[in-house]
Amino acid sequence: MRGITAQIIIIGAGPAGLFCAANAGAAGKKIVIFEKNPVPGKKLLLAGSGQCNITHDGPVREFLTHYGDKGPFLKPALMNFPNTALISFFQERGLEMVTTKAGKVFPATLKSTDVLHTLETECATNNVTLHYNEPVLNVRQSADGFFVETRNTIYCGKLLVIATGGTSYPGTGATGDGYRFASSLGHTIEETSPALAPVIVDGYPFADLAGISFDSLHFSLWRLGKKIGSHTGDLLFTHQGLSGPGILDYSRFIRPGDTIRLSFVGPVQGEVFAKGLSEKIAAHPVSNVKTIVLQYKVPERLVTGLLQLSGIPEDLTCAHLSKIQRNTLIANLLEFPIRVGKIGGFNEAMVTRGGVSLQEIDPKTMESRLVPGLYFAGEIIDIDGDTGGYNLQAAFSTGYLAAKAIIGKCG
Ligand SMILES: Cc1cc2nc3c(=O)[nH]c(=O)nc-3n(C[C@H](O)[C@H](O)[C@H](O)COP(=O)(O)OP(=O)(O)OC[C@H]3O[C@@H](n4cnc5c(N)ncnc54)[C@H](O)[C@@H]3O)c2cc1C
Repeated sequence: MRGITAQIIIIGAGPAGLFCAANAGAAGKKIVIFEKNPVPGKKLLLAGSGQCNITHDGPVREFLTHYGDKGPFLKPALMNFPNTALISFFQERGLEMVTTKAGKVFPATLKSTDVLHTLETECATNNVTLHYNEPVLNVRQSADGFFVETRNTIYCGKLLVIATGGTSYPGTGATGDGYRFASSLGHTIEETSPALAPVIVDGYPFADLAGISFDSLHFSLWRLGKKIGSHTGDLLFTHQGLSGPGILDYSRFIRPGDTIRLSFVGPVQGEVFAKGLSEKIAAHPVSNVKTIVLQYKVPERLVTGLLQLSGIPEDLTCAHLSKIQRNTLIANLLEFPIRVGKIGGFNEAMVTRGGVSLQEIDPKTMESRLVPGLYFAGEIIDIDGDTGGYNLQAAFSTGYLAAKAIIGKCG
C-alpha cells in the first residue's frame, strides 16, 4: 500500500462526477476521478435510448415541480446552473441541441456518445486525471481530509466528492457503493427503491399488442376500491405491462395490487361518452361496431383486442350488438381495468428513489453538513426526477454547484 495525494478526489465518472471535475479543473484544481468501469458514463450512454435527453425546455423554476417533494432542495443548484447554461455549455463546445415539441432537449446529433465525448474532452483540457478500472473500496476521514482506498492503493484527498449514482441499472456500475461510503462517514441513507419503473401487470391482456403507444392517455389509479389519483401522459404497451413516460413518471404513486383504469377515449364524462356511442350505434345499424369505435381514434389493433375482450365478433354489425355487449364495450373503452402485479425492479428502473438524506447536505454547496470537505453530486442524493431530461439536469447542476463550492474552498 502507498499513499498518493490529490487535492480533490471524485468517485464516479458519470455525468455528475465528470461535470464537477471539468468545472473544478477549469479553475486549476488538481482533480483525480476514480471509475470502477474501464470507460466513463455507461449510464449516460443509455440515456434517452442512446439519444440523451439532456434537459428540458422552459423556465427553470418550472423544473422544481418535477422532483416530487424534493424540488426545493434543488432550487439553488438549478438556479446556479439552469437548463439554458447546460445547453450553452455544449453549444460553445460545438455540440448543438434540438428541442422536441414536448420540450425534451437532445444533442442535434441524437447521440449520447457526443455528449460523453464533450465531457471527456473538457476533463482532458482541464487536466483532470481519470483512473479507470479502479473501483473505490472504502473511504475514511483523515486528519486533513480523506483516505480513499482502491484495490492496491490508498489515496489522500483534501476534499472528496461522492458521485457514484444510485442502484438502478446496476450493470452500468451503479451498485450503491456510494451509500456505503456515505454511511460509513456518518450519513443517513433514505430508503432506496426503483423509480421511473414500468408496471408489470397480472393477467395482462395486451401482450400481443406490445409496441402500441398512446399520446396523452388518461388513466386513474385505484387502491382497495377507492380512486386515489389520475394522470394523463404518453403510454406504451409492453410484453408484460405498461411503460412510457406517463406511467414511468407516475410509478412513484403506484403499488402492487392497485388497479389502473385506462381510458382509451380521453378524460370524458362516462355518461356523455356512453350516450354518444349508443346514439351512433343506433344510427348506423348496418355498419360494423368496429367501424364506429374507430371513429374515436383508438388504434385499430387495440379496437380488435377490445372487441374480443368484450365478447364482440370483429364483423358484428351494430344492429346485432346486444345491450350487454354494448355496455361491456363502453366500460372497456372508458375505464379498462389493469391489475398491477409489481413495479419493475432496479434492473428496469431508470433512476433510484432515496439516497443520501437531504437534511444532511447543504443545498447551496452540496457539501455535507456532517463532514466538512465531503460533497455529493448526482443521483446518489435523495432526489429523483420525472422523465424528460430532469435527472440529467439535476446531475449536471449538482455537479456544477459542488465544483463551484470546491473552487471557493480551495481558494
Ligand atoms: C436506461 C436509462 C435511460 C435514461 N435516460 C435518461 C434521459 O434521457 N434523461 C435524463 O435526464 N435521465 C435519464 N436517465 C437517468 C440518468 O442517466 C441518471 O440519473 C444519471 O446518469 C445519474 O448520473 P450520476 O453521475 O449521478 O450517476 P451515474 O451515471 O450512475 O454514474 C455513477 C458512476 O459512478 C461509478 N461508480 C459507482 N461506484 C463506484 C466505485 N465504488 N468506485 C468507482 N466508481 C464507481 C459508476 O460506475 C458510474 O460510472 C436514464 C437512466 C437509464 C438507466
